[in-house]
Formats: sequence, structure tokens, C-alpha cells
Amino acid sequence: MGETMSKRLKLHLGGDAEMEERAFANPFPDYEAAASAVFGAGATEEAGCARPLPAADEPGLPFHNDGKIIHNFTRRIQSKIKDLLQQMEEGLKTADPHDCSAYTGWTGIALLYLQLYRVTCDQTYLLRSLDYIKRTLRNLNGRRVTFLCGDAGPLAVGAVVYHKLKSDSESQECITKLLQLQRTIVCRDSDLPDELLYGRAGYLYALLYLNTEIGPGTVCESAIKEVVSAIIESGKILSREEKKTERCPLLYQWHRKQYVGAAHGMAGIYYMLMQPAAKVDQEILTEMVKPSIDYMRHKRFRSGNYPSSLSNETDRLVHWCHGAPGVIHMLMQAYKVFKEEKYLKDAMECSDVIWQRGLLRKGYGICHGTSGNGYSFLSLYHLTQDRKYLYRACKFAEWCLEYGAHGCRIPDRPYSLFEGMAGAIHFLSDVLVPETSRFPAFELGSSQRDKKDTCCSSRDHINDQSRMNCHVAVPATPV
Ligand SMILES: [Zn+2]
Repeated sequence: MGETMSKRLKLHLGGDAEMEERAFANPFPDYEAAASAVFGAGATEEAGCARPLPAADEPGLPFHNDGKIIHNFTRRIQSKIKDLLQQMEEGLKTADPHDCSAYTGWTGIALLYLQLYRVTCDQTYLLRSLDYIKRTLRNLNGRRVTFLCGDAGPLAVGAVVYHKLKSDSESQECITKLLQLQRTIVCRDSDLPDELLYGRAGYLYALLYLNTEIGPGTVCESAIKEVVSAIIESGKILSREEKKTERCPLLYQWHRKQYVGAAHGMAGIYYMLMQPAAKVDQEILTEMVKPSIDYMRHKRFRSGNYPSSLSNETDRLVHWCHGAPGVIHMLMQAYKVFKEEKYLKDAMECSDVIWQRGLLRKGYGICHGTSGNGYSFLSLYHLTQDRKYLYRACKFAEWCLEYGAHGCRIPDRPYSLFEGMAGAIHFLSDVLVPETSRFPAFELGSSQRDKKDTCCSSRDHINDQSRMNCHVAVPATPV
């Protein structure tokens, strides 16, 4: 039986077989069932309605009424983080020494330690982050320009780590080098794409990241404006070429395909353009970004999922890079910016698809794995304060506690931030402090969240048990 036969068979069997191939069936009861089993057992019995109980090893909900994670679950996550960190450090001994990217390389590991520092306020993690970032700063190759896959990542993370260590001249040196890349970014004749992984939006993220982490004005407004204008100009040109100026005024492609998702597509680009820190003119947002988003919304599948590109009509991928888990961030941002309920409704439908089909056979990573999908719930929880989404995030975290036990595929870079173990650790650490979580190398902190993040200088936060509980020992492996 060849490929053709199995493909035909799949067509006959329809969505279920396809889904089984890509994701595990979600074994957890959803929030309503779990909550009513806890709070309303008597009522449901009286009504004669048999509801499924929460998983036997976790009776009750994993958080208290105020959204704080319960002690037992916290302990389980902490001990798994410790265990995975040790495995990761061991595994990294044989990792590619030349991969400096945030996506699969050493900058990603530096970002993970920066995150652990943020969550625990333990200086050891900051120093560990410094070790890794120093290594990447010696190895910049000038081949790519973005935060995730290019030199902007190590330079931006370096600037932030040095800033936190009060090494201002080293920090400034990183910023200067980062801004030297600007010329290639805004050059209209270059064939640089606009997407997040390799293109202008990925450089824009680096600029906005600096202004969020170090402070407004770290990168001046005119530099940001220049990059934003280049992205908008490029979108207008393609829209004109494709005769879509009415329906989709800002159109983008990567490798001649009009991708939809967060990594290579329009969801990631529109998401960046809608960031308040990008300071895009209100008129451009309303006249160009909004109709383009609405155009994309019309391409969604009946399931609530989104195609990987405008020309693709198969409802297959539920990844951050392709599909609902990436698009949901764009929809939430659209809801914040345009304040129209339809965006929130669509985001909630994305969340349902991710809940059903998000425990991926591809593994536990951020880009196309369970952790990246789990972040969509955390973000929706921030936006709505609806505990249903915190519950879903906790259940995806519970899945990640069984790291490696599900027979998932092993990614090419098994310890990296975006494909492997570092990403799962990042997600687990964010579940411990859901109120400040953020998708790495993609979401930016808000001012409210930032206030909570400056924990190390604040006595209140030093005394905050939920933070300090999170201490996990760094293995003594020398870097
Ligand atoms: Zn991916």
C-alpha cells in the first residue's frame, strides 16, 4: 500500500483519522464538567445527570478561587522543572555549538533562564542567562536579522541581561549593534520578507522587546516608525499586485505563499502592527489592518481552526506556527484594539479547537507542540479572567508533566526553546504565575504586568509566596 492509498483512505475517513494522526485525544474533562464535579456533585446527582469526574490523581481543580495554583500542583510542576532542567543541561552538551538563535539555539536557553529569573527572582538564573548570551554574542553571524532566528535575538536579549546586571555600557553596545541592522530592514529593494521568523516583523519585535524590558525610549520612536512603514508599504504593494486592495489592503507572502499563521504569516505580522508600542496610526489600523484581519477571518474553517495559507483548504495543523494557536493571539489583540465582540468570540472558538486537538504528536515544544498551544489558554485567561482558560492551561501543563511518556516524535533540536524541552520548562514556569505569563519571543509585557515583573526591587514581591515557592535548583553543570 503506497502513499496514495493511505491518503485516499484518510479522505474517506475524514477529519477524525487526520486528527488522530496529528494529536492525541484529549483525556481531560473540560472545565464545566470538572468544576461541577467539584462544586455541584449533589445537584447533578439529583438531576440524574452523570458527568465525568476530573482525573483521579487530581481531584478538584488545580487552582483556588482567586486563581492561585494549589500547593500540590505547584510542587509537582516545580519538581518537574528541576528534573527537566537537569535533562536539558545534560542534553545541551551535545547540541550544535554554532546555533545561536532564540528559536533552536543558545539565545533560547538564555531566554529560558531569564524567564526563570523573572519568576523566581533568583539571581543564579540571571547569571546563567548571562553565560549563555555571552557565548552567542561572540558568535553572531550576520546572516539573519530577526529576534527568533537572527542576530537581533542575541543582541536584544544581551541588552536586557546586561541592563538587569547594571552593566549599562555593555547593554548599550548590544543596542547599538542591533540598530545597525536597521538599514537592511528598511531597504525597499531587499527581498527581506515581512513575517516573524525571518522578516521585518521579527526585527520589529526585537525593538519593542527592548522598550518593554528596559524602558520606553530605549529604541527611539523614529526607528520603530521606519520599520513599521516598511512593513506597511510592503503589504500594500502585494495587495495591489494581487488586486486585493479592497478586501485585504495589507497582504504578505513568504516563499511565494500567502501564509496565515503566526510564524510565517499574516497573523504574526498584524499582531505586531497592533502592539501599542508599535505606535501605528489609528487610521492605518482602522483602514488597513482591520479589514485585512476580517478578510483572514473569512478563511477560517468551520471547526474554528485556520488554514496554514490562503490557498490551503485542509483543516490540519493546530500549531502556534500554523493554525488557531497562533491566530488566536492576533484575534485577542484585535479585540483589545478595536473592542468588537466578534474578535473575542473567534478567539474563544480557537481555544475550543486547541483544547480538542492541541495535544500534539509532534511533542511538547512552543512552535508546534503542546506548550505553545497551552500558552493560548494563558493569554485568553489574562484577557477574560475566565477560569475555564486557566483550567485548560493547567491541564496542558499536566500533560507536559508526563514529558516523553506519550511516544511523541523527537524534534531535531530536542532541548531548544521553540522545538523542545526548554519550551516546555518555560511554559510550566509560566503556569506557576499565570497572571504574568507571556508567550516567549512573541508576546510583549503590558504596563500592568511589568509592574509585577520588577519584583526584585520590591519587598512585597520578595515576600510573595507564590513567587518564592517557585525556586528550583539550577543543576551544578558547568556551562
Ligand atoms: Zn512550528
